[in-house]
Amino acid sequence: LTSRKLKPEGSVVDVDGVKVGDETPAVMAGPCSVENREQLLQTAEAVKKAGAEILRGGAFKPRTSPYSFQGLGEKGLELLQLARKKTGLKIVTELMDVEHRDLVAEYTDIIQIGSRNMKNYSLLKSIGKIDKPVMLKRGMASPVKDWLLAAEYVMSQGNHRVMLCERGIKTFGEDTRYTMDLSSIPLVKEKSHLPVIADPSHGTGRWELVIPMARAAVACGADGLLVEVHPEPKKALSDGPQSLKPEKFARMMKEIRQLNELD
Ligand code: PEP
Ligand code: MN
Repeated sequence: LTSRKLKPEGSVVDVDGVKVGDETPAVMAGPCSVENREQLLQTAEAVKKAGAEILRGGAFKPRTSPYSFQGLGEKGLELLQLARKKTGLKIVTELMDVEHRDLVAEYTDIIQIGSRNMKNYSLLKSIGKIDKPVMLKRGMASPVKDWLLAAEYVMSQGNHRVMLCERGIKTFGEDTRYTMDLSSIPLVKEKSHLPVIADPSHGTGRWELVIPMARAAVACGADGLLVEVHPEPKKALSDGPQSLKPEKFARMMKEIRQLNELD
């Protein structure tokens, strides 16, 4: 179902009017975690002003340590909904467990499946049974083949509104958090008709590298970007070191627009 042969022209995922997979890169931006009302609304206004169409924000967080901030849960989802109402931005947020599927689906426009859950086959089947766009992140140690099979798990249940997200893989490099695998973008686009989003925030773990990698990903054919933005990265409850300040994000948007106008 994911094969390019079935849809040589590529698929466009319609997120309630926002098209992912058409000529202009769809930009999803916002904090790693929803922390409070002010933080979220401030970030939402800023990314909207800079030209983003979709707001990201984690309410259920997959943290390495059980003692780290785990997200606000349903309260976080309510804040995302408030931000949507105030700005008109669409929402993308992560679903971690089958038990929260309907709750998360009620609040969000796109369900994000995180890197750690790319191989959670019961979760994949469960979101395959509902009518909601899905963004499937690549497992940090998964080959492209397994990633596409994970997308098959969702699509085989009936839900065909799937987009993929390259978020970096584990290598022996110690200078960045993960290694942004830019080559997977044209590779996946050759094998599959599904839109591909690039996440240079998790892909590098360092805010200084986010803008160059965002440009590179768009040059490689990415259909969109997922970027972490925080008004005060130093105070962020998760992923501060890889979060752009709103001014830097606006700069990134300008550079991406210029790149897109070249053709
Ligand atoms: C995230 O988007 O904040 C996240 C946890 O991503 P990943 O699953 O790629 O680590
Ligand atoms: Mn994050």
